[in-house]
Amino acid sequence: MPSRERYIEKHRDQGLCIRCPNEAMPGRYLCPKCARKQGIINKNNYEINRSYRLEYRRNQVDKYKKEGRCTECSAPLDEEDRGFVTCLTCRIKATVPRTGRLNAINYAHYARKFQLVPVR
Ligand SMILES: [Zn+2]
Ligand SMILES: [Zn+2]
Repeated sequence: MPSRERYIEKHRDQGLCIRCPNEAMPGRYLCPKCARKQGIINKNNYEINRSYRLEYRRNQVDKYKKEGRCTECSAPLDEEDRGFVTCLTCRIKATVPRTGRLNAINYAHYARKFQLVPVR
């Protein structure tokens, strides 16, 4: 078997891109970069665009974490947010049942109820 084919086969087995050492997209033989070079990725390809967005989002989350900012809305985190990766507002939004609007009163209530602020 020519070495080129062996190389491709090996990468396929390992879930790697067959054109470069990067990880291939799930269920694909190419990484997003090579797929784009090949013209495989286009606006209409929802699945691939989705994996792009997820990757972008992951990078963004990493960046915000390093900078000590909320990974949802990028607001700077303060003392109360120590140990969390999102700000209080986002934590409440993510936890509170979707029913009802948030106001100053139930905001504080939920913050305590779900222990989204440190217990003093
Ligand atoms: Zn590649
Ligand atoms: Zn936030």
